[in-house]
Amino acid sequence: MRTSGEFLRSLEDGRAVYYRGELVPSVVQHPVLGICARHAAKLFGVARECPDPALGSSISRYFLPSRSSEDLSARHRLIYESTLACNGVFNISQAIGSDALSAAAIVARAVDRSNGTAYADRVEAYRQRVASGDLTVAVAQTDVKGHRARRPHEQADPDLYLRVKEVRADGIVVSGAKAHTTQAAVSDEIIVLPTRAMSDRDADYAVAFAVPAATPGLTMVARPVEELEGNDQALLSRLDFESETLTVFHDVFVPSERVFLCREHAFAGPLAVGFATHHRFTAVSYRAATANLYLGTASLVARTNGIEGASHVRDKLLRLVVYKEIMRMSALAAADAPLFQEGFAVPNPLYTNLGKLYSNQNFASVLEALVDLAGGIAATLPSRADFENPDEHGMLQKYLAGAEGADRRVEVLRLAKELGVSTFAGYMLTLMMHAEGSVEASKLALLRDYDLGEAERLAEGILAAATLDRKPE
Ligand SMILES: Cc1cc2nc3c(=O)[nH]c(=O)nc-3n(C[C@H](O)[C@H](O)[C@H](O)COP(=O)(O)OP(=O)(O)OC[C@H]3O[C@@H](n4cnc5c(N)ncnc54)[C@H](O)[C@@H]3O)c2cc1C
Repeated sequence: MRTSGEFLRSLEDGRAVYYRGELVPSVVQHPVLGICARHAAKLFGVARECPDPALGSSISRYFLPSRSSEDLSARHRLIYESTLACNGVFNISQAIGSDALSAAAIVARAVDRSNGTAYADRVEAYRQRVASGDLTVAVAQTDVKGHRARRPHEQADPDLYLRVKEVRADGIVVSGAKAHTTQAAVSDEIIVLPTRAMSDRDADYAVAFAVPAATPGLTMVARPVEELEGNDQALLSRLDFESETLTVFHDVFVPSERVFLCREHAFAGPLAVGFATHHRFTAVSYRAATANLYLGTASLVARTNGIEGASHVRDKLLRLVVYKEIMRMSALAAADAPLFQEGFAVPNPLYTNLGKLYSNQNFASVLEALVDLAGGIAATLPSRADFENPDEHGMLQKYLAGAEGADRRVEVLRLAKELGVSTFAGYMLTLMMHAEGSVEASKLALLRDYDLGEAERLAEGILAAATLDRKPE
């Protein structure tokens, strides 16, 4: 198992990352990206160790394949606890990569049976490699997608979905770009997966593989972290955040042993959906912990405003409790009733997608509850510079006191402002709606395999009984 220092040193590898129009010489030393690198590094301080029978050594639990309900529950707890250890901010560094590996291990077996390939051995060899190296792995699934109503081969530019350009004896050459790749700029490895089902005409786009972040031809453009820069009131964003990149592959060579799907188009859909199920289980697990940020701050802000006993305040706190506990319940239910595929325990897709959809659709009401309890001051709070100016200090102290003194109240309000009324709030709203799949994707997944039989039989039974009842003697 690595230390956080060893991990941070591994990021000094010449990777091509741009930030605000400049090539970043070191993501660790960078004033903004350095924070998300250190956020990632916090994972190495979390208790994750467990034995791996296949390797005969201790590895991070993230990379242990789930074989039972108990394994899935332990995974849920690990994700929940590591999110709390990072101040309520998800730590994706080994979670998403292991979600991808779980889905790839299952689908690879089906491809091998059908096409005589040897992907399952490659996926397992790669799992052992990242597990024994205690590596961090980002996942680039979402393509940039161009015209949303067109399939990959119908796009004006063939690179708008990532594709295989050439197959060589020793590997493949790929081009294209993936959007919103969380923590790719500060991960050791990047796994690429197809984003959707592919037809035979889209076979070139049915591709999955892994590359180190510092691979020739791979360029990352990091999003600006506006919730931090120029915001002297930021509290949480000084400590923890994750960063996404536009991840561009320009004629990148991938050696065969790192290729997990290449043109077997019938399996792109199962791989995309399989990953989504695993990753949404991760989502509801971390979102339950992240909800604590909003619940805790809402409770503190109510107290500092002196309104904690009012009935509408209890009602809003209850709304936040429901949000948090529905996330946790769906994770626990999904772990309790897994599906078994190829000997792996897969989180129950119904309970997973149910929690995910609830989270997609209800986060706006979490923000609303916090903003209501904080009051308009969450938007109009004077700056930190004003509080620090001796000419204004006394005046602000006097007029911004609440049920608690101004110093305490203003600090709590700063956190409420950051979480509820800032660039960070907008980022979180977008994350809660889109990350790990949009609202429509969750709905689709929920209804796709839903068995209406039990409900229909109940209704049919009543219809049949009522008909019999009306028959003349
Ligand atoms: C903070 C954050 C972190 C993320 N991290 C990752 C990551 O680490 N790795 C990764 O791979 N992805 C990541 N994502 C991507 C995430 O999975 C996508 O944002 C999500 O799947 C939606 O895709 P999109 O952003 O391309 O939106 P779009 O697909 O453009 O959606 C916009 C709207 O268009 C609709 N739409 C799209 N296509 C059609 C169509 N054919 N017909 C009708 N309507 C359509 C959608 O339903 C939606 O209403 C992240 C996203 C966010 C916000």
